[in-house]
Amino acid sequence: MSIEQLIRPNIRKLKPYSSARDEYEGKASVFLDANENPFNTSYNRYPDPLQKELKGQIALLKDVKANQIFLGNGSDEAIDLLIRAFCEPGIDQVLIPQPTYGMYQVSADINNVNVIEVPLSKAFDVETDVILKAITDKTKLIFLCSPNNPTGNIFSTDKIIALLKNFNGLVIVDEAYIDFAESPSFITQLLNFENLVILQTFSKAWGLAGLRLGMCFANSQIIAVLNKIKPPYNINTVTQSIVLEQFQNHSHIQKNKAEIVNQRQLLFRELAGLKIVAHVFPSNANFLLVKFNDSREVYSTLLQKGIVVRDRSNVILCDGCLRITLGTPSENKILLTELNKL
Ligand SMILES: *Cc1c(COP(=O)(O)O)cnc(C)c1O
Repeated sequence: MSIEQLIRPNIRKLKPYSSARDEYEGKASVFLDANENPFNTSYNRYPDPLQKELKGQIALLKDVKANQIFLGNGSDEAIDLLIRAFCEPGIDQVLIPQPTYGMYQVSADINNVNVIEVPLSKAFDVETDVILKAITDKTKLIFLCSPNNPTGNIFSTDKIIALLKNFNGLVIVDEAYIDFAESPSFITQLLNFENLVILQTFSKAWGLAGLRLGMCFANSQIIAVLNKIKPPYNINTVTQSIVLEQFQNHSHIQKNKAEIVNQRQLLFRELAGLKIVAHVFPSNANFLLVKFNDSREVYSTLLQKGIVVRDRSNVILCDGCLRITLGTPSENKILLTELNKL
């Protein structure tokens, strides 16, 4: 398989926009190249289009090279760019096992790229045979979300590896929740598979959803394509500098994460003991998928009390299920108090 051959022909040929800050290299003190306003203070300059300082920190943390990192305005931007770089509208397809995160489908639809849907197994695992049977020579991307949203489980490592070995396209492993999981990230496999793409985000374990910063890890050829087609200044100055500050604050982030995992165990046990609960699915993420005897009643009663959870009862394999994000200890207590009254 050649990554070069997978890229859409027009993107392969594309001459990218070259911003003022792309072209200048070295040291300068008088910036008259980008039509910026010289008089305002903090935010008058365009941000670093390739976020070099931030990528330096991320490279150290994740043990990858800076040229294996793409940063997006949320992982959602990376999802969209991957589809745009590799899928010819109206011709190519992506494969999405269901149930999973809704943005893959939406991004494919926006780009007029066909979606092949296959169900996960009853245990919510990927089924390699089913997927390999469903793909065609037009299938360019497979989206795997592990830990999966909304089911919370990790997919079997050997099944993901089997797909990486047997599929002549990109396997995108979305690890938005990996920091809450016991299993290691697929980042360690980057050098083994040139068709592996990993998505992570600052929105969940880092608690920075409002800043919009997503990470994409892949071989440098794939990263170069994403950089070529991204909006030049996709990560703003404020986001870059606040996330850099957060790297100084890492123990604080670890502590919050440990508390969420602790709350997951507590809430799991409490919920499993309730009569109104049919099943609590084990979770490697910061939420629990819970099957209720009467999910409609639970959902609307909670809403009346000002507690909003995610109704997933209409999603394939998730009959009667609500997805409940883990909150602070006191928020989780409020939830339990209301559920106990039902
Ligand atoms: C929350 C979530 C994301 C994060 O998206 P951002 O755009 O980075 O906020 C990505 N993938 C999945 C599966 C998610 O649940």
